[in-house]
Amino acid sequence: MAEIIIKNIRKQFGDFVAVQESSFTVEDGEFFMLLGPSGCGKTTTLRMIAGLELPTSGEIFLDGEEISQRPPSARDIAFVFQMFALYPHLNVRKNISYPLVSQGMSKSKIKDKVSEVAGILGIEDILNRPVGGLSGGDRQRVALGRAIVREPKAFMMDEPLGALDAEFRERMAEELRALHDRMGATTVYVTHDQLEAMQMGDKIVVMNNAVVEQFGTPREIYDKPATMFVADFIGSPSMNFLDFEGKLAENDTQVELSGTVLNIPALREGAQGKLSYGVRPEHLQFSDKANFRGEVIASEYLGTTQIVTLDTACGMLKARIGSDQKATVGEKVGLNVNSQTVTVFDRSSGQALKSALNEGVVGNG
Ligand code: ATP
Repeated sequence: MAEIIIKNIRKQFGDFVAVQESSFTVEDGEFFMLLGPSGCGKTTTLRMIAGLELPTSGEIFLDGEEISQRPPSARDIAFVFQMFALYPHLNVRKNISYPLVSQGMSKSKIKDKVSEVAGILGIEDILNRPVGGLSGGDRQRVALGRAIVREPKAFMMDEPLGALDAEFRERMAEELRALHDRMGATTVYVTHDQLEAMQMGDKIVVMNNAVVEQFGTPREIYDKPATMFVADFIGSPSMNFLDFEGKLAENDTQVELSGTVLNIPALREGAQGKLSYGVRPEHLQFSDKANFRGEVIASEYLGTTQIVTLDTACGMLKARIGSDQKATVGEKVGLNVNSQTVTVFDRSSGQALKSALNEGVVGNG
């Protein structure tokens, strides 16, 4: 069991708040992503879990034990840095065995452990090579090997693939996820790449400006965003926002934008003032019969789909439709909306209004 519970942790550097009261739980064996833009507090959160920074306030539990103020060496957590954090003058075997030598383990036991880890990572044939001359992927495997060999309760990974080029990065991401599935060790992984987070994570925490915006599975985060920030940050192109002002009541199932009435999932709360109607590009479809109409401004061909930009009475929208469909610039088309996927946001707070769509969502509101 290696469950990690984060309760209201906060980190201040002088007057600067890097992480505001944040709470989430990483379940045993989960591959857990900390996602957000640069400077939002991901690395600081990860470093607090590993013990490399102490929280200003709040608590961290590992396996039910409070560890917030313990030094890193007393936490049984391995931190995997980017691949460059290896000892270049030592060979692969010595790099991997280093943590065990420091623990004072016997030579024969170390040999067995290193062989086992090399087998898991498929690097048996390079054990005697110096790390200096290795490819990026092999160095990354060695860095992982050094973390795995300790058999820690949990792994912390800070953008471990950040320095790799796109194609190789994708391969290593698959390899890492497969390795995790074989070992089942609780892993917390920092990334600013939403695609990486969606592909690899069992759960995702989305952070922005030192605050946890939402916490959930990739599907929950994508389909039921808790805030406008999350809706905008996740998905490419991101969610369309049609701004309007109005007054909505609990149980309302429609909104009116510039004279156009659009359906929404039944609201569980009322709101008034500056609001926004949010719909993802793939939830818009062309339909001759639809009353909601727009003019095609541009079309971007992407192979299996195309992204069409439309000018409507309610604002500009992007629709993702099949690339076999006709979308001629200047043409007026009808638009059908998959209304049960729509989220309405309060623009003043940035929060999604509670509705039949997003019941049970864990946001910061
Ligand atoms: P990145 O991906 O760019 O590393 P991040 O989300 O991981 O971003 P953090 O590294 O956690 O962000 O940093 C959050 C904020 O805290 C940043 O503004 C950073 O400058 C600040 N910060 C981090 N460490 C310190 C420190 N030791 N002293 C002062 N400020 C710090």
